[in-house]
Amino acid sequence: MTTPKPHAYTAQEALQRLKAGNQRFISGQACFPTVQKEVLAELAKGQQPYATILGCSDSRVPPELVFDAGFGELFVIRVAGNVLGPSILGTLQYAATHLHTPLFIVMGHEGCGAVQAAIATKFQGTQQKSRINLLLENILPALDGLDEKLAPDALMHSAVEANVRFTVRALLETPEAKANLANSDMMLVGAIYDLESGCVRFLE
Ligand SMILES: [Zn+2]
Repeated sequence: MTTPKPHAYTAQEALQRLKAGNQRFISGQACFPTVQKEVLAELAKGQQPYATILGCSDSRVPPELVFDAGFGELFVIRVAGNVLGPSILGTLQYAATHLHTPLFIVMGHEGCGAVQAAIATKFQGTQQKSRINLLLENILPALDGLDEKLAPDALMHSAVEANVRFTVRALLETPEAKANLANSDMMLVGAIYDLESGCVRFLE
């Protein structure tokens, strides 16, 4: 195996890999390979993904494909609306503590149904099913401050970004994140996937 061990990447290098992979994806040059038996056998010994991604369950946003990444490269958590919750935080803590992935990405996407439902609940008083309501409680605070008079598309666009930024801020406020980001080269970055272009926009 000539491939370097994934955790040999710095956070910046990991981010560059994701950006390059997304470029290959949108330019129709993705090289997502048939996984060789030797690679599977090597990975069976252990994983060293270079990035942890919290994304949405939406079928149109598969992180491995969007970033043209292979087996063992990405540690992925997917939940509708890319929201936090106890299980999600536990999974993120596992990634930080045991996998030491240098890069953490919170990736939302345009046209997110969960964000759309949160908008409908907040601004139109739409009633949702009970468990969906519980999910949306994690998104609703992110929508504070949005202008409900915006055109629907603009409101949706703003809400998607606000939801990602809200999750990033919530993570940054955890003691673990404060310690990790201060004492190591770990990075936490927000990102938004565009369904039409396939392009991932990383938030500053
Ligand atoms: Zn979604």
